[in-house]
Amino acid sequence: MSLLEKLDAAAAARKAQLPEGVGAFGIPIEESYSATEARIGERRVLMLGTNNYLGLSFAPECREAAHRAIDQEGTGTTGSRMANGNYYGHRALEHEFAEFYNCRECVVFTTGYQANLGTISGLVGPGDVVLIDGDSHASIYDGCVLSGADILRFRHNDPADLEKRLRRLGERSRNTLVIVEGIYSMLGDQAPLAEIVAIKKAYQSILLLDEAHSLGVLGETGQGLVEKTGVNDDVDFITGTFSKSLCGIGGFCVSNHSQLDQLRYVSHPYIFTASPSPATIASTRAALKLLREGRLLREQLWQNARHLYSSLEKTGYRLGPHPGPIVAVLLDSARQALALWNGLMEHDIYVNLVLPPAAPEGKSLVRCSINAAHTTEQIDKVCDVFSKLYSTVA
Ligand code: PMP
Repeated sequence: MSLLEKLDAAAAARKAQLPEGVGAFGIPIEESYSATEARIGERRVLMLGTNNYLGLSFAPECREAAHRAIDQEGTGTTGSRMANGNYYGHRALEHEFAEFYNCRECVVFTTGYQANLGTISGLVGPGDVVLIDGDSHASIYDGCVLSGADILRFRHNDPADLEKRLRRLGERSRNTLVIVEGIYSMLGDQAPLAEIVAIKKAYQSILLLDEAHSLGVLGETGQGLVEKTGVNDDVDFITGTFSKSLCGIGGFCVSNHSQLDQLRYVSHPYIFTASPSPATIASTRAALKLLREGRLLREQLWQNARHLYSSLEKTGYRLGPHPGPIVAVLLDSARQALALWNGLMEHDIYVNLVLPPAAPEGKSLVRCSINAAHTTEQIDKVCDVFSKLYSTVA
């Protein structure tokens, strides 16, 4: 098969899964009105498919900071951190993240994806081992591939399986990077971090925790699962993104290991790409401040999340294992998921449709995400519509 024929075959498989004209993927959002409402086509929809967990996408503090930065520093840096793109704001944000996590070092990357790519490929290489949760995000897989290390997987959220694999590695466990996520993006479940930490200590491995979906969401000050579990001293590297609770774009890695700084000199995803724009950095700095002071936002977020989770559960839907800002509705088939997604859209509710292979274990999901800005009335409406649509998927 030629290169182009391979793409034709992939396109045909995609069309077979999703009928022509159903725009569930890459749907154009014509206008965004607030953290909870947007226009898609002619519909004013309730947004229940974002990662805007604290609802800060329109926060005046962040918008003003971004405007000011554009006026004072221009629209882009036009270069990488190692060349002409290392502005005051990048370094200030690194200090602020390091201080937030009470860590020695922080490196800011251009995206969360690159934070994982750059950190993993900077830490391990050929001859080393990465041992990752089987449900890891693509950025973790891709970072492992880029690194050239041996890639092993353990069963999702299964510390016994992790332990077994580390035991089998013998001496090599000391050169093993174990990687888990705070909250998993598709099912919304949390890693059993206390057990994982105990195992990594026993085998003297290095642990990297990706807090992409848990930053701002878990822990007293919003650090993530690390804070909720109280294991800050035992997690070696924490990565995260600005694109979810912080409503920007970019990523970071923090650590108490001074060696993190050396990544700047070896990590291609850090060196060979342009740095985040001044506006992005300025709004992220403002958002980090709001996140740190955001105990009330977190409380509201969790109240909203429990409201949605318990109501859908009562209706009879099968859900992801933990209540939280990501509420995954599990369906028996792609057809059912599509029917539910369409039904919600017809009632002006936008959620994420997740079909195999994007979801774990070939599952089909309707992934809802709730945020601190959703009102009780909005959530009641969503629950009502889900209840009406139950017969179409039961
Ligand atoms: N890690 C995880 C667990 C993610 O879900 C994502 C994005 N969905 C990323 C990293 C990458 O972040 P970004 O989209 O900001 O590049």
